[in-house]
Amino acid sequence: MKMKLSEIARVVGAEYSVPDSLAPTVTGVAFDTRKLQPGDLFIPLQGERDGHTFISNAEAKGACATFVAADHAPFATRLPQLVVEDPLAALNTLARYYLLMKVNPKVVAITGSNGKTTTKDMTAAILATQYHVIKTQDNYNNEIGVPMTILAMDTNTEVLVVEMGMDRPGQLHELSNLVAPDVAVITMIGEAHIEFFKTRDKIADAKMEITDGLKEDGLFIYNGDEPLLRERAEQVSQEQKTFGLEPENMLYARDIEAGETRTEFSLSRWPDLRFSIPMMGEWNVANALAAILVGRRFHVKPEAIQSALRDFPVTKNRTQWVMGDAGESILSDVYNANPTAMKAVLGDFAKFPCQGRRIAVLGDMLELGEASAALHASVAEALDPDQIQEVYLYGDEIVSLKQALSEKYAPEHVHYFPKAEQRRLIVALQDTVMHDDLVMLKASHGLHLENVLQALIDGT
Ligand code: ATP
Ligand code: MG
Repeated sequence: MKMKLSEIARVVGAEYSVPDSLAPTVTGVAFDTRKLQPGDLFIPLQGERDGHTFISNAEAKGACATFVAADHAPFATRLPQLVVEDPLAALNTLARYYLLMKVNPKVVAITGSNGKTTTKDMTAAILATQYHVIKTQDNYNNEIGVPMTILAMDTNTEVLVVEMGMDRPGQLHELSNLVAPDVAVITMIGEAHIEFFKTRDKIADAKMEITDGLKEDGLFIYNGDEPLLRERAEQVSQEQKTFGLEPENMLYARDIEAGETRTEFSLSRWPDLRFSIPMMGEWNVANALAAILVGRRFHVKPEAIQSALRDFPVTKNRTQWVMGDAGESILSDVYNANPTAMKAVLGDFAKFPCQGRRIAVLGDMLELGEASAALHASVAEALDPDQIQEVYLYGDEIVSLKQALSEKYAPEHVHYFPKAEQRRLIVALQDTVMHDDLVMLKASHGLHLENVLQALIDGT
């Protein structure tokens, strides 16, 4: 971005008496001084620490100005300061202005309990075959990340693909109104944040808020396999398209062929084209379907979509295969977990060809609240001793799954380790895992299964 500080002051309603011709040019925004570039406007936000304590750092790193919250003003700094009621609100105001007045791209907004980042990356890859596209970086998907994504756009951006997360009602309403999407996508409804929401119905209600800011002539794309979304979509007046694995959807997948690192599928349309994505998991086919519908909305040809999906850049740290020290193949997904995703990954894991045993190492799924014990226990549905011979459970909440498995598994095949005993888990796995085994690791990040993964890779 490039804006005079005087113009920014007018946009956010801050006093600043320097005329445009003398005001510094702001070339970016930063709320984290570790990422601040010279010429950035610093935004002090309230995190674990008050962002105002970093203003001197921001100055040292070359910030050209700073916001200051009214209750901290005047702030002792040499930087020009724009005093605003609330820096986060001012950041949003600035982002909205920049989006509409300086860039005015088409906007695709993507939410869902799982699959947001994957769908965002697929969508951006498809649209990039024809347009100048900017997408959310990493996982910057909340009320800070979305305005930061907007302000990172070049002025010649044609399409903005933005991921939107939510952990409370009202959040997507705000974000959707901030960007006023031309296309709004809901990938699926799961149980993420059920601690707070209590029921999937309430999660679905909150996800539907992504349509609140949808333009009148916009398009709503959603997963039609989810009855909660189908019901609610009736209230949406804009055009709609559904995708999913069931044939009643407007776009559905057929003949899915799962490989270790690729998945192939055909579509209900363009039967001559075979699609391939560089990731495992049927759920990623659903994500691809959503991205394909977005691509078609922007007139990308099916052949171009096919080739964009074949090798789109996958955001790292998600489901991946690695080789362990004993020569075993490890399916690692150690960065987040919730019941829907865990069952989906187990379903795929159970199908991979395997000469030895399939060993599942499953850890706690956090933030499930009162329903936690029941939701952990429900993972038993996805475990069958004929396919997944050994189960290692790690954490304090997942003990309920141990009980649920006692009906299906002989006790010597279910191994339980409380959270404090990660070392014992590692040693037990190293003792048992052999060359021909397939191992799967999945838990919430708070369980730090990445340590277990590393130990299996290093053999130490
Ligand atoms: P976050 O809330 O962390 O931003 P996200 O919604 O962006 O997550 P991704 O990063 O795309 O989701 O995928 C995270 C994990 O969720 C995947 O590794 C996979 O286990 C699971 N997952 C992805 N897509 C789906 C889907 N459509 N249905 C069920 N599970 C999925
Ligand atoms: Mg994400």
